[in-house]
Amino acid sequence: MQVRLAEHFGMCFGVRDAIDLALDLTERGSLTILGDLVHNPDVVATLDEAGAVRVQRQDDIRTPAVLLTAHGVADRVRLELRQRGLAVHDATCPLVTRAHRALARLVAEGRHPVVVGQPHHVEVRGLVGDFDDCTIVQDEMDLDSLAQRIGDEPDLRLGIVAQTTQPLERVQGLVEIMRRRFPDTDIQFVDTVCQPTKDRQQALRDLADQTDLVIVVGGPDSNNSRKLVELARSLGCPAYLVASSKELRDEWFANCDLVGLTAGTSTPNEIVEEVRRWLESH
Ligand code: SF4
Repeated sequence: MQVRLAEHFGMCFGVRDAIDLALDLTERGSLTILGDLVHNPDVVATLDEAGAVRVQRQDDIRTPAVLLTAHGVADRVRLELRQRGLAVHDATCPLVTRAHRALARLVAEGRHPVVVGQPHHVEVRGLVGDFDDCTIVQDEMDLDSLAQRIGDEPDLRLGIVAQTTQPLERVQGLVEIMRRRFPDTDIQFVDTVCQPTKDRQQALRDLADQTDLVIVVGGPDSNNSRKLVELARSLGCPAYLVASSKELRDEWFANCDLVGLTAGTSTPNEIVEEVRRWLESH
């Protein structure tokens, strides 16, 4: 079986820099990571071995130093942690910060903030966390409440950004639906889908076109990895998500001559290589 690697795949600079910072900080003293720095189980194990404590809630931080992940947090959270006297290390990806700034600018222009993304995703919670009044749009059904709002406030102007890892077509599609559904509303959209995500998605489209099946390497909780699987399937190409070669199944490849290989943004290259070796040996 032949294997074709996606032109862009694997760990993005934002996640890689966050891991490097975490490992560097653990050498200097005890450290708590607030939230999931990365979804890959092997990388998580490395961080655990290095002594990093992982917690999901601010109240559970027991070390004098805390690291914020690449997904970012609301300014309010950063301030609260500093007011507690904690040394706050910030691994927020600059492209997430760019999305925060874009939304803040739209709100400063007097627009109602709208984020296209998953309501419970940590990045989206960070994006909306500094605004009392914000709408999150995950799909078309979420537009009903916005329609009601615009009915009550016809002068409402919308300022829209997106979660950085959303598929671009999906975001553009939802913005287009909003423009059609609210033709009299002043809508400003800032495309905040990050370039590494766009590159991966385009590379996956090419791969789905050229291969019989696509394997995406990524942790089961990795949103961007799952999105790559969904995108390949939506293009009519069978696709599977695996965390490592142990999860590959012989039967998937029964009628497969050429398999495409890609990976989510938190997958180390060594694991992609390990999967590649497994595929090439079959
Ligand atoms: S996926 Fe994009 S926004 Fe998120 S950490 Fe990577 S580069 Fe930054």
